[in-house]
This record gives sequence, structure tokens and C-alpha cells, in this order.
Amino acid sequence: MKRTCVAITGLGSNPDMFARRALQKFANFAAQQRRDVTTIVMGPPGGGKGTISKRMIKDYGYLHISTGDILRQHVRDKTPLGEKAAAFMNSGALVPDQLVIQMVLDELSKHKAEHVLFDGFPRTKAQADELDKHIKIDIALNLEVPTEEIVSRISGRWTHPASGRVYAYDFNPPKVPGKDDVTGEPLIQRDDDKPEAVRKRLATYAEQTAPLIKHYDDKGVLKSFTGDNKPDLVAAGRRSDAIYEAVKQVLDPLHKK
Ligand code: ADP
Repeated sequence: MKRTCVAITGLGSNPDMFARRALQKFANFAAQQRRDVTTIVMGPPGGGKGTISKRMIKDYGYLHISTGDILRQHVRDKTPLGEKAAAFMNSGALVPDQLVIQMVLDELSKHKAEHVLFDGFPRTKAQADELDKHIKIDIALNLEVPTEEIVSRISGRWTHPASGRVYAYDFNPPKVPGKDDVTGEPLIQRDDDKPEAVRKRLATYAEQTAPLIKHYDDKGVLKSFTGDNKPDLVAAGRRSDAIYEAVKQVLDPLHKK
């Protein structure tokens, strides 16, 4: 009771100061409750990394740093970096480490984000070592999706080149097999979506990523997900949903600390 009286007296004598102190106290409290979380998501092409990343951005407010997206933007804008990167990207090769690392550091310096999600980066051991010098990684999420599932998913994808309409034979097949619903024109399969090409991309991914998995495992921040926690969802073709449920269980406590 006595304390309440003192506070009210204080407010009466200098409301501005009181409000400022209260705000400061609240800011200190909030800062103690908050924690910046830096997360990496790794997973094979076509393995649902995009879907999972989108949900993480929505649920936890991550700043999304996707090196593939940023590089494509540089190529579209014809920046000096874009001009250097284009040839590597077009041939399916990796862009040299130094260029990508500098690009990521520039991107980080532009934002004042609490939580950062790296997607498609690091891709090599050199990139991971360099990133470690600048930022502490809290968690590396490794999505494990069986090769055959990805091959059948991607190779069931057909496109209508003129409109860009995409059909997935298992989820949204065209009304007439091989024909676009709107124009009736023939659908094509992109060369890199053909089963042999998909297997090759997956093999390259496995080769590049294996050292990174060890890198983050050695640091004790690696978490791998298969979706096997929810076999019913996997059986229904919803492995990404199953994986995301398990991902949330790992991220929720990190974001609440
Ligand atoms: P995908 O998942 O199909 O490989 P991305 O969008 O992640 O596609 O990347 C597209 C291209 O951009 C890659 O083939 C590569 O040339 C380049 N790239 C993206 N991220 C990196 C990176 N971290 N290091 C080097 N090259 C990269």
C-alpha cells in the first residue's frame, strides 16, 4: 500500500520521467526475454525446403536470406556481381565462395533482424567456416527426404511453356494427360526435371552437403528431420507437414528463451 502511494506521488511530480523510466524498464525486460536466433535450413532440391522456410518466416518472423534468390535478383538487375555469377549459375556450377560470402555479408549489414534464416547457404565447407567468423549458428535443420520420393515428385512435374502453368501428376494432374487445361497445347518436361537429371542434382547435393552436415554436427547444432514422427502424414504425401511439426518442437523453445 505504502509503495503504491510513493509511485503515485512520483507520477504526479514528474509524469514524463516516470513514463520514461517505466518504458526503459519494459525495454530492458523485453531485451532479456528476447533472443536472436540464427538458423540454417539444408535439404535436397525438391525436398520441401521452400515450404518449410515460408512457414518459419511466418511463424517466427525470420529474415530470409536465400542466396539463390539474391543471386537471381543480381542477374536480373545486371549488377557486376550478377554478370560474374550468371555463367556459373547457367552451367549448374556453384558461384565462387568469395563472391557469395561477400554478398551475404552485405545483405546482413542492410538489415537489423533479430532472427535470420539462411537458405541455400552455406553450400561449401569454406562458406561455413567463413560464416562462423561472423555469426553464431544456433541451429542447422537438415531435411532428409528419400531420393526416390523426390525423383517421382519432380519428374511428375510438367509445364505449359507459353503460360508457365505447372502440373504435378500426383496432386493437380491436367484434365487430359499431356495437354494444358486452358489451351489444349502439349505439356513439356523441363530437361532438369527428367528423372536422370534429378538423380544427378541429388547426387551433387549429397556430395556437397555431407561435409556441412558433419560441420554442424561437430558443433552440436545439427537436427535432422525425416517426417517419420508422423507416418500417417507421410503416407498421405504430406511429408513437409510432418517435418514441420517436428521442426516447430525444436524452434519453439529456442524462440521463447
Ligand atoms: P537449387 O536449390 O535448385 O540448387 P538455388 O536457388 O539454391 O537452387 O541456387 C541456384 C544457383 O545459384 C545454384 O545452382 C548456384 O549456381 C547458385 N548458388 C546459390 N547459392 C549458392 C551458394 N551458397 N554458393 C554458391 N553458389 C550458389
